[in-house]
Formats: sequence, C-alpha cells, structure tokens
Amino acid sequence: MPRRLVLFDIDCTLIDAHGSGGRAMLRAIKDVYGVEGELGDYSFHGRTDPGIIRDLAELWGADGSGGGDDGHPREVAQAPGAGRSGASSEDPVGDRVAECIAHYVGLLRDEIAAAEVETLPGVRELVTALVADRRAVVGLLTGNVEQGARLKLEPTGLLSHFKVGAYGSDSALRTDLPAVAVSRAEALTGRRFVGKDVVVVGDTPADVECGASLGVTAVAVATGRHSVDQLAACEPDHLFADLSDWPTAYAAIMGDDDARR
Ligand SMILES: [Mg+2]
Repeated sequence: MPRRLVLFDIDCTLIDAHGSGGRAMLRAIKDVYGVEGELGDYSFHGRTDPGIIRDLAELWGADGSGGGDDGHPREVAQAPGAGRSGASSEDPVGDRVAECIAHYVGLLRDEIAAAEVETLPGVRELVTALVADRRAVVGLLTGNVEQGARLKLEPTGLLSHFKVGAYGSDSALRTDLPAVAVSRAEALTGRRFVGKDVVVVGDTPADVECGASLGVTAVAVATGRHSVDQLAACEPDHLFADLSDWPTAYAAIMGDDDARR
C-alpha cells in the first residue's frame, strides 16, 4: 500500500527544455500587455507561471506604474487589443493573467515542437523505479500551469507516470501547492499522506521551502541555477548534485536509507 507521495518539480529537476518556456512567456507578456524589458536579477526559477506573468507585467509597467526602478520598460508595437488602458480597472495586470496564460500555452506548444526537451541524468530510471514500487505514488508539484506541464513532459515519454499533480494553475503561490497535491493523492488512493511521507523533489530554494509548513521530506537536486552550496543553506533532508546515482536518490526518497541505519 502507498506510504510515500513523491512530488517532482519539472524544470531543471526532471527536464531541461532549453529556455523554451521562458521564450514563450516573454512573448506572451509582450503580446498581451504590450510591454517588455530587461529581466535584471529576476529569475523564473522556483516561481509559478501566473506569478511570473504578474511580476514581469508589473515590473515593466503594464499596471500603469511606468515600471520598476530597474525594469527599463519600453513601449513595443502592440498586438490588436494589447495594452488596453488600465485606468478603469483596479487590477489591470491581474485581469488579463488568464488570457496571457492561454496565449503562452499556444506559444509554448510551438517552442516545444522546435526545441529539444532533455530528460536529465538518472530521471528516467528513478521515476520508472518509483512507479514500479507499490509503496509510492508519483506526481508533480510545479509552477507550470497544467497544460504547460503536459506540453513539456510529453516529449519525454514520462508524462503518464505522474498520477497526481499540483500546478501553477492551482495557485500562484508555490507554498499552496503541496497541500493541493496531498489532497488529490488522498482522493486517488484513499490513503493519508502526512509529514515526511510526502517527498518534494526540486532544484530551487522555493522547492525546498514550499512544504516546510507540512513537514515534508525535501529533496534538493542541483541541476538548475542553484549550486549544491546554495541549496545546502536551505537545509533539505537530502541533497544531490544530480540524479545520476538514482539508486541512492531512490533509497532516500523511500526512506530506505533511514531503515538501514
Ligand atoms: Mg525547477
């Protein structure tokens, strides 16, 4: 019977989509809000799709503020209907997030078709082994909206392995997502998953920290922008440079390494 709910982040944890998501996102923001600019120190990593749209559209002045201090906003040629005046709305950015996401998904489909989606080392073996283990339920915990998650994972052939998920389309706040995934897994299996039974695997401090309030097991893997040292500072339960030694990661995820001590 399942006793572990294992939730994987997607970008830079399972796959490297070589920037296809970022390109589609920036284009969608430009088309829908009529703004673009420099990213500066802003990082997509560990954030959710709706959170990124809101952050960048506001940074670049789509809320009528004229942009942030370091956003270097500039006017761009507007698509039909883009960049409507926000004067009549309390939340001109928020009002169009859903529209922007729909446009992003269409652009992402084209980007993914043209890009190579790379499954990161050890991921295929690790996910396959976990799916074959009756003690585990395997799912996703990602800032991608659900449609985007599917588009990114379809080329890997791994998509069908993930039985539950919590997505950026469920909440713009990553810290909301572990509870969403847990409740879906409990509905699916009829089992409860509490505390360390829930394992969150990800490549950013946000992945390590998002399940802290539930007391989950955090597994960090330094295959993204964050180094082993940066992730170690967040005190995950387990930390790997990558997942190429997947049997060791598998034992850590299932708690089998604890049992041997
Ligand atoms: Mg990631």
